[in-house]
Amino acid sequence: MRIAIVSDVHANIEALDAVLADAAAGGEVGAVWCTGDLVGYGPDPGAVIDRLRAAGALCIAGNHDLAATGRMDDNEFNPAARAAARWTASALSAEHRAWLAALPLVCVEGEFTLVHGSLREPAWEYLLSGEQALDQFALQETHASIVGHSHVQFYAEECETTPELIGVRDGDSLALGEARVILNPGGAGQPRDGDPRAPYMLYDDAARTVRWRRVPYDFTSTQRKIVAAGLPQRLADRLALGR
Ligand code: ZN
Repeated sequence: MRIAIVSDVHANIEALDAVLADAAAGGEVGAVWCTGDLVGYGPDPGAVIDRLRAAGALCIAGNHDLAATGRMDDNEFNPAARAAARWTASALSAEHRAWLAALPLVCVEGEFTLVHGSLREPAWEYLLSGEQALDQFALQETHASIVGHSHVQFYAEECETTPELIGVRDGDSLALGEARVILNPGGAGQPRDGDPRAPYMLYDDAARTVRWRRVPYDFTSTQRKIVAAGLPQRLADRLALGR
């Protein structure tokens, strides 16, 4: 079975649709997983929720999902993120809000644990260093964990010493072996590594191989909707920069 794994879709339906189409173009997609931040920043929170639900996606909550549903104070957000969280809260239907509010912070599926930030601080910690990877492995009960939140594609393999976070590019793959791993599919709806193409990860459970992908999409229509919604201009600008 092929599993499409996305994170940080951030209410960007054009990016999500491009990723799902790319995954489907390579063969049947048996499951879709999303490691949090379905909403926030972008103009289409309801459409993203509908699309993921229609795909039967396994989803967990990220900090933006918590903020948009009142499960978390948005005072620690920067001004643009806070403005977007409040706009999102007002844009969600009661039904969408209830569905989003019910998402768990951590989910175990087979040999994978899905968590937005880290197992130590599921909604908040940016896992960005070898020391943090070490702490993650200490709490990780499955072979692999999948994190998001940093919007950067990488992996880390458990080893005798402090693991390195290995950055990946479009088409890179990793065969899961004996060593436990931490995987990050990147931020589909708002990449932050200088490449505006939408990132995601494909897992083939027969081959036990993960492949990272980048998909071009029409971010100009997302940008237009961000501006039309009255969301901060910076949130539109950054989609062209991948920052
Ligand atoms: Zn995010």
